[in-house]
Amino acid sequence: MESLRRFRGVAMFTAPLHAVLAWVFTVYTPPAAHPELAQWAGALVTAHWIACVTVVFAGWLTHTLLRRHERASPVAIVLQIVISGLYLYFGAHITLIDLVFNAGAGLASYLMICIMFGVLALMRPGISVPVFGMTYIVFAYLLEHAEVNPMQRTSLHVIAAVAPALALVTSWMNWSQYAKSVLLRRQLKRSNEALVAQQQELAFLADHDALTGLYNRREFIRLAQMELLRANRIPCDTAVIMVDLDFFKKVNDRYGHPGGDAVLKATAVSLSRTLRATDTLARLGGEEFIVLLPATGQEGALQVAAKMRDAVRNTSVELGGDAVPVTASFGVSSLPAPHVGSVDALYAAADRALYVAKQLGRNRVEYATPEGSELHAKAEN
Ligand code: GH3
Ligand code: MG
Ligand code: MG
Repeated sequence: MESLRRFRGVAMFTAPLHAVLAWVFTVYTPPAAHPELAQWAGALVTAHWIACVTVVFAGWLTHTLLRRHERASPVAIVLQIVISGLYLYFGAHITLIDLVFNAGAGLASYLMICIMFGVLALMRPGISVPVFGMTYIVFAYLLEHAEVNPMQRTSLHVIAAVAPALALVTSWMNWSQYAKSVLLRRQLKRSNEALVAQQQELAFLADHDALTGLYNRREFIRLAQMELLRANRIPCDTAVIMVDLDFFKKVNDRYGHPGGDAVLKATAVSLSRTLRATDTLARLGGEEFIVLLPATGQEGALQVAAKMRDAVRNTSVELGGDAVPVTASFGVSSLPAPHVGSVDALYAAADRALYVAKQLGRNRVEYATPEGSELHAKAEN
């Protein structure tokens, strides 16, 4: 595609150049001593007009292809070969016109066009070797069948071979340099992408739990503190529910840690499905979860906890062909509005309630009032 972009750029310069040259040879008047040169000029006029039209058409085709495709397609490769082949043939053709009439710049055009394609076209060796090889074969064939000075024929053959060989070496060096830079760019892009993904993962892990994808303890504390500040300004109740899976050690013992992890993930999904989008669910660590319920009082929180208890009990996890029974105990606490309680006070009360739930047989919900909040509520009254 880079080759085609270069071809398109050069076409903008060569198309008018061919038109100008066609005009130059149209108005050319041969010296009186060489009237046969009128025929030479006529042949060049025809060649340059054909080249001009071909370059315009190839330029338009290239432009269309470049607009439609970003990556190289078989059509693009064929177009690159056809353009190179035609233009190299053009070089051979006008050179032979010069040689046959023993006029003009002789081999210069052929040499110039060969080198131009060596520099310009980024052809992989698989393409450049046949293209430049064919260039020599075609030129040598034309040379054999043209009426050129026999004294010059051998040296013309040598140059006919050296020019495409030089072009081939130049083209190969250009192509390998370009291919290396493309590979390097791709490698750089890939490692950049990996770095960005790694950064995103690190940013995610800074406030999320890797196993369940829920918020981690630190983020929960931060969000809960924010919520309590908000609830202070716009008075409303705030509740917290602590969740602890029952006899989770047994799950690990029986099904191994990967089995336990599967239960934790399934529980996280069940818990989050029970909650509203405004509630905050986090994994405190181990098999303990915590929920923050904004604008929710004791009664509401107890209802939510009961719903969560049922949801956990109905969580189906299959490990080693067994349906693993999952239950959890819930400790609920709430701060009634207006309040100045802290997250620590709510957390401690919920933990106390959870302890009671465990003591009373598990798979149940218990409530505890945060210490100091009763006093505070009374003072407000
Ligand atoms: P209880 O009903 O009294 O809560 O009993 P329990 O067995 O659930 O309680 P305990 O706190 O003694 O055990 C919790 C277990 O959780 C111990 C630990 O091996 C396991 N655990 C902690 N973190 C992870 C984890 O990330 N993955 C897995 N699979 N297990 C974990
Ligand atoms: Mg525990
Ligand atoms: Mg437990």
